[in-house]
Amino acid sequence: MEYQIQRGTYDAYDEEALNLKKLEEIFSSIASTYGYNYIKTPTYEQTELFTRSVGESSDIVNKEMFTFLDKGGRNISLRPELTAGVMRAIVTNKLYARDLPLKNFYCGNVFRYERPQQGRYREFLQFGVECVGINNYFHDVETISLGYKSLKFVGFSHLILKINTLGDESSRENYKIALRDYFKDKISCMCPDCQRRFETNVLRILDCKVEEDQKIIKDAPKINSYLSQEAKDYFQNVLDLLDEQSIEYVIDDTLVRGLDYYSQVVFEYHYIASDGTNLGAIGAGGHYDNLLSDVGGPKLSSVGFAFGLERINALLKIIEGEKYEKPNIDLYIIHLGEETKQYSFLLMQELREAFFKVDMCLEEKSIKSQLKLAIRKNAKFALIIGSEEMQKNCFNLKNLNTQEQIEISYENLIDKLDEVIGLGDYEDEK
Ligand code: ATP
Ligand code: MG
Repeated sequence: MEYQIQRGTYDAYDEEALNLKKLEEIFSSIASTYGYNYIKTPTYEQTELFTRSVGESSDIVNKEMFTFLDKGGRNISLRPELTAGVMRAIVTNKLYARDLPLKNFYCGNVFRYERPQQGRYREFLQFGVECVGINNYFHDVETISLGYKSLKFVGFSHLILKINTLGDESSRENYKIALRDYFKDKISCMCPDCQRRFETNVLRILDCKVEEDQKIIKDAPKINSYLSQEAKDYFQNVLDLLDEQSIEYVIDDTLVRGLDYYSQVVFEYHYIASDGTNLGAIGAGGHYDNLLSDVGGPKLSSVGFAFGLERINALLKIIEGEKYEKPNIDLYIIHLGEETKQYSFLLMQELREAFFKVDMCLEEKSIKSQLKLAIRKNAKFALIIGSEEMQKNCFNLKNLNTQEQIEISYENLIDKLDEVIGLGDYEDEK
């Protein structure tokens, strides 16, 4: 029997897997420079956590959650995002009693039962941050900047940062009334999701991606006319501070985001590849005021974002083309004859302890086939060991890029490798 991969899931291997891992490492280390610490929370939580926090009117809770009863009869859901779990962890462990703000970053798989299509999976990876505890537009800007600079760093030179304000609670309530009034005699021609949103959360209609609906949405009232002076000032302060850092943005007054918990500032990062590929938002986030208290903690304002790592990876592959990194090793040891095998094996183990990426073929193969293997493994260097080299403790180190060869003694090997591989500049060494 052949087992099929599940719809909406994927296997990552070779460069795909390597680059996903690398993205996590780079984003994590940039977040650390902003004072964020790693947090890890469970892959599943009680369903109610998500229905309360992500919101019953959101598509995620309504249609996209993987929900089941466990053997103890508990109602469980696989996490459709990580923010709710992080909030729950902050409450469970009373982390809110520490110095505020709490700054955490996470990276993990999330599950959404969506219709699979390009850039849309049922299990995918999110990297994100949450800055919890202080209501201050500086933190909003700090968070938006972190996302923006992280994406620029990994290679998105022409990033589109879309930004909007949903205002404070009273602004939003007034706006919702205006939207209901506008949509009430048009809603019967709109998609079933919009009809449901009209009843549950009219604001979410603005997030509809159906083309016909978009035409109706285009002329809907804009939030700007319903914002309190305070909310306007808050948003303006955010924009001014972004300007100060030369972070370019586009104000998009239809941007409302798919989750129910946002207020004030919301944003999305987009990128359109030069071949026209547009995978939708590669990251998104916003400010939220009630989420922590909704899950049983104190009422503390927060701001966060989440990146979709697969979408980022797919776009980077297009941008970088040939340069997109492939798995490689530093050194492939080529041994000639049975008597050199154990010697080579022990040398390989020694070099691995010095953190070089080293491999060799443990079967008997010709020098030609071993060289081919070295090339297929994308090795930077080959170290050739015959019985003479073994006796003399002196080897030939071959640069597989330039084909140049140098002689090197056992005593100098680690230092030399450090020079040529550590610095990666063999040419200058000659
Ligand atoms: P979209 O509007 O594309 O459905 P969303 O509003 O559901 O996105 P969030 O819940 O904010 O997105 O998730 C953050 C990021 O996760 C998105 O910007 C996107 O890059 C990524 N993402 C969301 N859904 C998927 C999916 N099904 N497959 C892969 N990546 C996804
Ligand atoms: Mg979605």
